This record gives sequence, C-alpha cells and structure tokens, in this order.
Amino acid sequence: MSEKMNVVAIVDERKAEMREVTRPKPLKGQVLIKIDGCALCTFEQRMFTRVVPVPLPFVGGHEFTGTIVELGEGVKEDKFPLGQRVAARMLHSCGHCYGCRHDEPNICTDSSHVDMSQMDIMGMGGLAEYINADISQVYFMPNDMPVEKACFAEPLACVLNSIEKGRIEIGDDVVVIGGGIMGQLHVMCAKLRGARVIMSEPDEARREIAAKLGADVCINPLEGDPIEMIKELTGGNGAAVVFNTTAVSAVAQQEHPDKPIEVSPNWLHNSEAVITGAVSPSVRSFRQSVDALSKGLIDPELLVSGSWDKTEAQKAFEAAIDPATFRCIIRF
Ligand SMILES: [Zn+2]
Ligand SMILES: [Zn+2]
Repeated sequence: MSEKMNVVAIVDERKAEMREVTRPKPLKGQVLIKIDGCALCTFEQRMFTRVVPVPLPFVGGHEFTGTIVELGEGVKEDKFPLGQRVAARMLHSCGHCYGCRHDEPNICTDSSHVDMSQMDIMGMGGLAEYINADISQVYFMPNDMPVEKACFAEPLACVLNSIEKGRIEIGDDVVVIGGGIMGQLHVMCAKLRGARVIMSEPDEARREIAAKLGADVCINPLEGDPIEMIKELTGGNGAAVVFNTTAVSAVAQQEHPDKPIEVSPNWLHNSEAVITGAVSPSVRSFRQSVDALSKGLIDPELLVSGSWDKTEAQKAFEAAIDPATFRCIIRF
C-alpha cells in the first residue's frame, strides 16, 4: 500500500481541493479504515464559508463509512475482519472528567475529535482515503448497505441522543422546529417512538419532505402564531416534547444565534417543564443509530442530496451550502 493518500482539504474561503498527505498507520488497538464516503455536515460547511475561521488548510469530516483494511497491534482479525463495513464515532473523551465518569463521554470537557499525531493537515480527518479509529469507537454496518446511507450513522446518532433526552411516550404530541437535516431525522425517530409529530417549518419543500417522512401535521410558523397553532392542534395542552433543531435562539424573533432566551421561572415551576440540550452522539446512541439503519427502521434516502467523487470536492461543498440540500457526500 502506498505511503501517501488523498484528502479533501478546505484551502481557502469557499475553496476545497484534493491534497496528498501521509497515510496513517494503525496504532495499537486501532484499525485502519479505507473510507468509502463522507458527508458534509453543517460543521464542515461553516469551515468552508469561514463562518468558523479555523486555520487552513483544514480536513474536516466525521460522518463517514468505510471498510477495515489493516489492523493495529493487538487487534484480532476474527473480531475485526478485513473488508468489514464500519462507521466510527470520532470523539475521543478523556475518561476521567465529570461527564466521562457519569457515563456521558459526549459531554467530556477534555475531548478532542481525533488524534492528530499522524496528520499533515489538521482536522477531524474523515474527508480522506484512510483514517485510524480505536476499536472501541468502531461500529459494524452491513457490507451491502449503500455508502450514502451508511454515512448517516453519525448524524442519526446525534439525533437519537436528543430523542432519548426527550423521553417521548406513545401518543405524545411532539413538535419539531426546523425542517433541516436534523429536524427531518427527528421526525422519523419521534414517529418510531410512537408520537404524533408536528413539523414547524416555513419552507414548503421542507414541509413536504417532513410529511413524506411521517410528520402527521406540518405548519408554517410564518402564517400565524405557532404557539396558538400548536395549542389548537393539541386541545389546548401544547406539545409534550418540543425539539428545536434550529440555531436560532428565540425562533420567533429570528435573531442572532446564541442570543440568550427568556424563560419565565413561574412557568417553569408550575409546568415542571424540562429544558435541555443534546450534543454529539453518545456511545449508546451511536449503537442505536447503526442498528436502526442496518435493520431498515430508519431510511434516510430522501435526505441524500447527491454524492460526488473526491476530485469534485468543490462541487460537493457548493451543493452542501445550498439551503435546498440535505446531505451531500464525497466518495473516496
Ligand atoms: Zn455532523
Ligand atoms: Zn472526559
């Protein structure tokens, strides 16, 4: 095998291209994965548009699938067969902080996304031909699953972590705010949990997708007061669970992201409402995601907006930042 490999790097504002770098070698307890495809998440899109100004060049990519091609020291082939299709959770948690010691390594305060010791170009490294992963982070997927679908293991795992926090019960009314990729995945998962799902989204095309994915009711929040609309739909009760999947703090105000939101202490006291966030896939939700995809319980096909060869990375990135697309995938 060649000592070099190709990666897709963001090299300038709105410019991505292939670069040649050193191919990593699997270290002790790791497998080397030949990446087949990697999706461009909002994270990579923000690097591309320089909304998040990381040092360049930068190799993003954490939503990937590939096959095991080499084993590091101590890894047994009967457990990790060469050629096995996998996805990997690329969060390295410290193992000893408060979150880690409370079985929540996804909120580790000392986590880095990836070991960069063997990297010529910084980044999470999934937009590459090869990547190393610790065996504890590797999840098997069916070998015949289409690459585009298998790339959903990571984003679906993030959503399932959020779904778990929502504690949906059968028959609940669940509101999903925002029909982007995360909102659409929430619709499918909430349906699977037995909810009546209400999608709130101003864009008609996105509402149509949500309906196809199982949303029972789709409302346009710009056509009135969304809170009143939800109350009317739920006999005055309001929703049992609301997932806000948008980056906008006070959605109705449509202002700058990360602006603090106002919450009435009295309302919180009397309603016993629980407000929480959800970040990254947990170990558990990643497993759930891989199971749901592998067993066909969640089919993300409608959310695949296209795939491009690594030589056409620029086109893939341009498509990914178009608000009309969901997931754009680069094939390696
Ligand atoms: Zn992502
Ligand atoms: Zn930690």
